Amino acid sequence: YKQNVIEVEVFPYGENRKLLLSHDITKLENTEAMRRDFVANVSHELKTPLTVLTGFLETVRDLPLSAEDRARYLELMHGQSMRMQHIVEDLLALAKLEGDSEAPPMDTVPMARVMLQLQHDAEALSGGRHIIEVTCVPGINVRGAEMELLSAFGNLVSNAIRYTPEGERVHLTLRREGDRAVFEVADTGLGIEAEHIPRLTERFYRVDRSRSRDTGGTGLGLAIVKHVVSRHQGEFEVRSEVGRGSQFIIRFPSERSLIESDGPPRAAA
Ligand code: ADP
Repeated sequence: YKQNVIEVEVFPYGENRKLLLSHDITKLENTEAMRRDFVANVSHELKTPLTVLTGFLETVRDLPLSAEDRARYLELMHGQSMRMQHIVEDLLALAKLEGDSEAPPMDTVPMARVMLQLQHDAEALSGGRHIIEVTCVPGINVRGAEMELLSAFGNLVSNAIRYTPEGERVHLTLRREGDRAVFEVADTGLGIEAEHIPRLTERFYRVDRSRSRDTGGTGLGLAIVKHVVSRHQGEFEVRSEVGRGSQFIIRFPSERSLIESDGPPRAAA
């Protein structure tokens, strides 16, 4: 580790007696390096679509185009500006999560409602190209911030669909493990090599850059998931096998999982 050493003479102690102050600045330097990397990454991520967008714009401005070609270029330009918009939205979401060190206001969130919303989102995203299955044990509530949970789960669902070929399966599950609530997204898609798994939640880390971009990925989804899970004191697990598929699992802590009995309380006999 790196030391920043400052020697200070302390007079009352007399000759040859010095007070040595040492600070570990490794952490500070790492934080600074991470900040520099992050700024470089953000600039790069935005620069690519911006360059493409400018090229299309100049084509439309400078070349005589048929109405058809013009419409096609406008569509391509729209795609690039949407990509920039997604990156900026994800960056803002991440900045908000990181800047806000306090736990979010916790409500009792009925998970059946969340799962229904996710099912609709998954079906819309897939556009009928995947088999979407949902298994939801009724009566499970989680102490949490519903918007944050929806955003984390939504990122996992969107990944499962984007990294799973057409006709394959995406399965959303909500279940109990003891007194903990567990959310899982399993797909029968590409899978991820073991060496990549520990780095997936780093900002802008991707296994396959071009595929992630082609399918509208920002590289920030799993970083957002990690923050939301940690703000809920949950655990995040990724299991995957190349060519067979992946499972992304969120376990909530038992004291925050509120398991309620199904149906109305029974009348006393
Ligand atoms: P992205 O926007 O690139 O999808 P994420 O942070 O959501 O960014 O995911 C990081 C990387 O993890 C992705 O680029 C992809 O390589 C990999 N990944 C995430 N989910 C899956 C999945 N369900 N199947 C295969 N690979 C995945």
